[in-house]
Amino acid sequence: MNPNITVRKAHVTAEGAGAEVARLMPVPQWMNYDPFVLWDHFHVGAGAGFPDHPHRGFEAITYMFEGGMQHADNLGNKSTVLSGGAQRFTAGRGIVHSEMPAEGSDSIGIQLWINLPRSLKTLAPDYQQVNAAEFPEQAVDGGRLRVIVGEGSPLKLHTAVRYLDLSLDAGGRHSETVPAGDRGIVYVVEGRVDLAGQQLEKGEAGFFENLEEIALTTAEPSRVMIAYGRPHGEPIKQWGPYVD
Ligand code: FE
Repeated sequence: MNPNITVRKAHVTAEGAGAEVARLMPVPQWMNYDPFVLWDHFHVGAGAGFPDHPHRGFEAITYMFEGGMQHADNLGNKSTVLSGGAQRFTAGRGIVHSEMPAEGSDSIGIQLWINLPRSLKTLAPDYQQVNAAEFPEQAVDGGRLRVIVGEGSPLKLHTAVRYLDLSLDAGGRHSETVPAGDRGIVYVVEGRVDLAGQQLEKGEAGFFENLEEIALTTAEPSRVMIAYGRPHGEPIKQWGPYVD
């Protein structure tokens, strides 16, 4: 147990046509975790997906575990990202896009929404794709760390966030200091980890704040996604695809 960590299990729900998501938030008991407003571990079957739909008021990162995802939008972008790569859109004042699995494959990954501060809600929409080889990767004690957002990554957000994909072998460990005032999420994709004295199982997340150090150890091969950053401290009005 660690009093600075709240453990929540992803809630499995159907989305769109032929898609299943394990959702950490928003759910009725846990609508957001400023500055983060949505976390979905998605599994979209081949031939299913999310046809044209609108968004505004936030930024999103789709990070791929398996298969491919094709993004197309009303700015004229159309591209497919494969395993280990990511797509980021800044919805700003408004974007319309579709998200469809690359032909013939199931598409599995994490979609994370990060709120925009009030002063940037009317930004022009924008899109960026970063392929797997472009993310910096480093060895840690018994594992490897990929930096999705943070120093060395070409993927840029308007909110100070660090977003990581950490794989550990049995006995592996990693720790890093959290800037004062930041809060975040450690989500277990595979295996089981200890986060600063708190056990987390596969499909569970530890939502932390006032945690000085993300100290992770594991006794079995594990993979976790980590995101943390500075809250905006502003009211969040989220309804469906919009965050106002
Ligand atoms: Fe979307």
